[in-house]
Formats: sequence, structure tokens, C-alpha cells
Amino acid sequence: MKIGFIGLGNMGAPMAGNLAKAGHDVTGYDMATVTVDGVSNARTAALAAEGADVVITMLPNGDILRAVAAQVIPAMRKGAVLLDCSTVDVDSARAVASDAEAAGLLPLDAPVSGGIGGAAAGTLTFMVGGSDEAYTTALPLFEIMGQKSVHCGASGNGQAAKICNNMILGVTMIATCEAFALADKLGLDRQAMFDVVSTSSGYSWSMNAYCPAPGIGPKSPADNDYTPGFAAELMLKDLRLSQQAAEASDADTPMGQAATTLYQRFVEEEDGKGRDFSAMLPRFEKRGWG
Ligand code: NAD
Repeated sequence: MKIGFIGLGNMGAPMAGNLAKAGHDVTGYDMATVTVDGVSNARTAALAAEGADVVITMLPNGDILRAVAAQVIPAMRKGAVLLDCSTVDVDSARAVASDAEAAGLLPLDAPVSGGIGGAAAGTLTFMVGGSDEAYTTALPLFEIMGQKSVHCGASGNGQAAKICNNMILGVTMIATCEAFALADKLGLDRQAMFDVVSTSSGYSWSMNAYCPAPGIGPKSPADNDYTPGFAAELMLKDLRLSQQAAEASDADTPMGQAATTLYQRFVEEEDGKGRDFSAMLPRFEKRGWG
């Protein structure tokens, strides 16, 4: 396929590289100067999009996505797929999809989980919103860039799935960390705590697969001095998107709200910026609430 790829950052560059390696004709554009093996560079986003079968965007936020979409939609040929893999607010995803549809394009929102390691290894998971036709066209690309894609329904549903998942993740990570800190104060050995909880009703991905306590459970960022992994500021971004969506749809998400407040404090007022999101455990070890 002829692919335009806009946003060649930490995630976009390795994703575009994997598509080129698999034999696709990839033209990239980023406002910063970036070179990716096998990917040719266009001078503007519109030039990268011209004549493409699929245009992929991997950008920082919804405002930037809207601005880039306004440039590329008029340049794309009718029937082409506009595939946004960024994590953005549901409203921006739906607004861009509606503009793309009006121009005769097939829009998809397909945020990912798996991080920079998953992007490099081609093992991302895609959560996809959009029509069956668009999903079927993009499926071979999801199979190159990732190991799994789930079609979640209409436009915006990919973003909805992503922020709901990450809201659960933020909440369970905090719960796991505060429980470890409480266990410490009660004199309970961390290995015993892990052995019980990981096989009892408190188990979760945060405890079982990504344990925030160093030296316990499978290898995780805790074993590497909390080098991310998944940085606390990216968790904060996703939690904020969940709260924005909750407000817009009048959903009651008190635990998501509490997690957002704690990660905001952690990133903006404490030492959380640049650390893995599981570094909430040393935070709780050091101090109590407030
Ligand atoms: P990044 O900041 O490394 O990359 C974004 C790129 O977009 C940059 O290279 C920037 O120069 C470019 N850009 C910004 N404005 C532009 C414009 N107007 N035109 C063209 N290019 C422009 O970010 P990233 O880590 O690659 O993340 C991209 C998206 O993926 C974000 O939405 C993020 O939330 C999501 N995501 C990231 C991770 C992760 O672990 N990094 C994991 C899952 C999802």
C-alpha cells in the first residue's frame, strides 16, 4: 500500500519503519526533522497524504490532530483511510471522523497500548473505532504494527476503550501501591503480600504482571529504579482524558477522579515526572495522604 505517516516521534517512527520493512511504500512527515530507515520524507503533511491509500497520524493531542486533519483531508483521494493512532479526547476523534466522512474518506481511531517497546517490536494492541470497511482495509497494517486489534464499534469507540482501560489501570496501580505501603506498616512481608494477593481476589495486572515492589513478581520498571515503562505523565494524560469524557457524558467516575488528582500531584508537585507510573509505591512509602 501507499502510506502517508504523519508524526514520527517515539511511537510513530518505529511504527512507520515497520511498515516500510514489510514492503509498504511509506512517505513520512513530522514538523521536526526525523529520518526513519526506508521511509521517504515529504515537505508538508498534505504532500505526505497525496495519493495515499492510508494516512496514519501519531500525534501528541486532539488539538494537533484536528489541525493536521484539516491539512490532510483535502489532499487525500476519496475512499482512502484516515487512521489516527494517537491517544486523544473522544470529541476530537469524532469531529475528525465526521469531517473525513464528509470528504468521502474512511476514518478510523485506533489508539494503542504497548508503549515504545511494543511500537519497535511490532507488538502493539490497537483499539479501533470506525466502519467495518475501514477496519478491514487497515487490518493488514495492524497485523504488521501490532499483535492484536479489537474493533470496538463506531468512530470514537477506540478512544473510549483506551481511556476506560487506562482509568482502571491508574486506579488499580494506586490501590496496589497504597496496599503495599499499608502492608509494610503492618509488618507484612512483601513477598508474602504478593503471594497472597496475586492468587486472591485482589489480583490485577498491576500486581501480577507489573508489580510496583522491586524484587517481587515478574521483572518490571520497579526493578530498574522506576525508569519507564509507562511514564507517570502519560498516565496523567490518559486519566485527564477519562475525566474530560466523564464530564462531557455525565458519567460518575469518583475513583478515576481521585487517581487523576493523585497523579497530577505526583507529576506536577512531587518527583513523579519522568518516572514510571508504578513509582507511586515509593511515594506512599515516604508519606501519607495530603
Ligand atoms: P512524541 O512527542 O514522541 O511524538 C509526536 C510527534 O508528533 C513528534 O515527533 C512531533 O514533532 C510531531 N508533531 C507535533 N505536531 C505536529 C504537526 N502539527 N505536524 C506534524 N508532526 C507534528 O509522542 P509519542 O510518544 O510518539 O506519542 C504519540 C501518541 O501516542 C500520543 O498521543 C501518546 O499519548 C500516544 N501513546 C504513547 C505511548 C508511549 O509510550 N509513548 C503509548 C501509547 C500511546
